[in-house]
Amino acid sequence: MKGWEDEADVVVLGFGLAGAAAAIETHDRDPAARVVVVEKTTERYAGGNSRASAQRVLCAEDAEALAVYQQALNEPNPVPDDVVRAWAEGVVQVAAWLERRAVEAGMSCVRCPNPPEFPDLPGAASVSESITVLPAPSGVWRAVKAAVGQRAVEVRYTTQARELVRSEGEVTGVVVESDGAREAIRARRAVGLATGGYENDPALQRDFGGHDRVYTLGTPANTGDGLRMLQRIGADLWHVRNRTQSGGLWPAMAVSGYEAAFQRGTVRAGSWLELGRGGRRFHDESTDFHLTHAKRLVHGMWLDLPHAWHQPVHMVFDETVRRAGPLTPSGPAPAAGSAELMGWNVAVEGYRWSADNSDEVARGWIASAGSLEELAGLLGREPVGLVAAVDRFNAACSDGVDADFGRDPSRMRPIVTPPFYGVELVPAVTFTTGGGRRDALARVLDVDGRPIPGLYEAGALGSTFANLFQNGASLAECIVSGRIAGAQAVSPTSASQSASTSPSSL
Ligand SMILES: Cc1cc2nc3c(=O)[nH]c(=O)nc-3n(C[C@H](O)[C@H](O)[C@H](O)COP(=O)(O)OP(=O)(O)OC[C@H]3O[C@@H](n4cnc5c(N)ncnc54)[C@H](O)[C@@H]3O)c2cc1C
Repeated sequence: MKGWEDEADVVVLGFGLAGAAAAIETHDRDPAARVVVVEKTTERYAGGNSRASAQRVLCAEDAEALAVYQQALNEPNPVPDDVVRAWAEGVVQVAAWLERRAVEAGMSCVRCPNPPEFPDLPGAASVSESITVLPAPSGVWRAVKAAVGQRAVEVRYTTQARELVRSEGEVTGVVVESDGAREAIRARRAVGLATGGYENDPALQRDFGGHDRVYTLGTPANTGDGLRMLQRIGADLWHVRNRTQSGGLWPAMAVSGYEAAFQRGTVRAGSWLELGRGGRRFHDESTDFHLTHAKRLVHGMWLDLPHAWHQPVHMVFDETVRRAGPLTPSGPAPAAGSAELMGWNVAVEGYRWSADNSDEVARGWIASAGSLEELAGLLGREPVGLVAAVDRFNAACSDGVDADFGRDPSRMRPIVTPPFYGVELVPAVTFTTGGGRRDALARVLDVDGRPIPGLYEAGALGSTFANLFQNGASLAECIVSGRIAGAQAVSPTSASQSASTSPSSL
C-alpha cells in the first residue's frame, strides 16, 4: 500500500441497521470524531437486509431471563455467558433507543405482540413484545437512516470495502473501491465491520451450508465480503454452520427479473402438495412453520424444513388454491405497518403480488395447464409419476388419512379443480450468522482468542446466534452490537467493565 488517501476517526463498513447504530453511537459519544460510513450499493439500494426485514425488533425487560432463553436457543452450540449477557442487557435498552430515533425522524413507534417461538424453553416468558417504526415498509431502517443524516456522519455510497489494512497487528484502515478506483482510508481509532452476511454468495453457501442452490430473501448485495476480509487478516470464525439455519430455510419462489426470491407464505386452501426429486412427496406440507422460523420438530429436535434436500421441488395445486389468496405473504395493500410488506422484492423493489395470483400466472411465474399431464410437461416432470402422486394424495383425502406423512385431514382437499398449477419451490434464507468470533465488547478475536486491535464487528456478520432464532432478535442484535462497537471505537473499556451501553447515551 502506497499511502492513505483519506482519514477518519472511525470507519464503519456497511450501512444496514448495525452500521447505522454504530455510526450514531460513535457520533453521540464524541461529536468531534470524524465518522465515515462506507456502503457498497447506491443510496437507492442501501440498507441491506435491515431494510427488507419485517421490521420487528425484540424488546424485553428481564435481561437475566432473556439470557437464559437465548442460551437455550443456542443449544447445542453455547456462546460464552458474558457475550449473551451483554446482548440481553442491551436488548432491555433497545425500545427506548429506537423510540428516540423515531422521534428524531418524525416517525412513530408501535409495540406488537411477539410470542416466544419456542415457549417450552427456559426463559421464554421473557419474550412477549417487539417494537417497530411506522409507516411500513422499512420503518425501522428509514428512521435510523434519517438519524444518521441528522448527524455529522459522512455516508459514501457505491463504495465497496475490499480489504482491512493491518499494521503491526492492529487494524489501521481499509482499502475501498469506487468506480473501479481504489483508495486507502486510515481509521485513526477503529474500523467497525457491519457488512452483513453471505446470503447471496453461492460459493460460500456451498462451502459452509452445503447448498447447491439457495436464494436470499433480502439484499442481493450481501455476498460475504466481510467474511472474506476477516479471513484475510486471520480472524477466528464462528456460526458459519449452526445445527439449523438460524433465520430459516424458507420455501420460496425464484422468478426471472428478480435476484432475490419471494417467500412462499401460508397456503390458504388444502388442495396442494409438494413433490421433490424422484417425483414423490417428501413431508407433511401443512406443517405450520411460520412461527418457528421454518423449523419443525423431528424426534424432539428442531430441524430446518426439508425442501433444500429434495430439490428440485414443485408445489402442485388447483384452481381453489389459486383463488384462495396470494402464495406469498406479501399480498396487495396490506395494512399500514404490516409485517407483510417485507422481503427485498416487496419492500425495496416495490413488487405487489396479486391477491389471486393471476398476475403471476400471466407472467409465466406460475405454470398453468388444463390437465395434470400437460402441467407435468411444463414443469419438466414425468407425467405418469405426477398423475400417480396426485391420485394417491386425492385418495388419502377421501380416506381422511395421510398414511405417508400424517398430514392434518382438515388441511387436505383433493386436487381436482382445473386449471392445474405448478411452481418451483427453492430454499431461501433471511440471514446468515457466520463471521468473526466476537467478544462481549464486539471485538473480533483471532484464531488464538486474542482481540484484534482496532477492529469491531456488529450485526449479522459474526452474529452471536448459534442455533434457533427468536423473531426480532436479529434487529435487536444489530442495535445492541452496533452500539457497543460504536461506543468502544471511541472510548474502549476493558473486558472486566460492563459491556452494555449506558442509558444516558440513548
Ligand atoms: C425478509 C426478511 C425479514 C426479516 N425480518 C426480521 C425481523 O422482523 N426481525 C429481525 O430481528 N430480523 C429480521 N430479519 C433479519 C435481519 O433483517 C438481518 O439479520 C439484519 O437486518 C442484519 O443487519 P446488518 O446491519 O447486520 O446487515 P444488513 O442490514 O444486511 O446490512 C449490510 C450492509 O452492508 C453492505 N455491504 C455489503 N458488503 C459491503 C462491502 N464490501 N462494503 C460496503 N458495504 C457492504 C450491504 O449493501 C448492506 O447495506 C429479516 C430478514 C429478511 C431478509
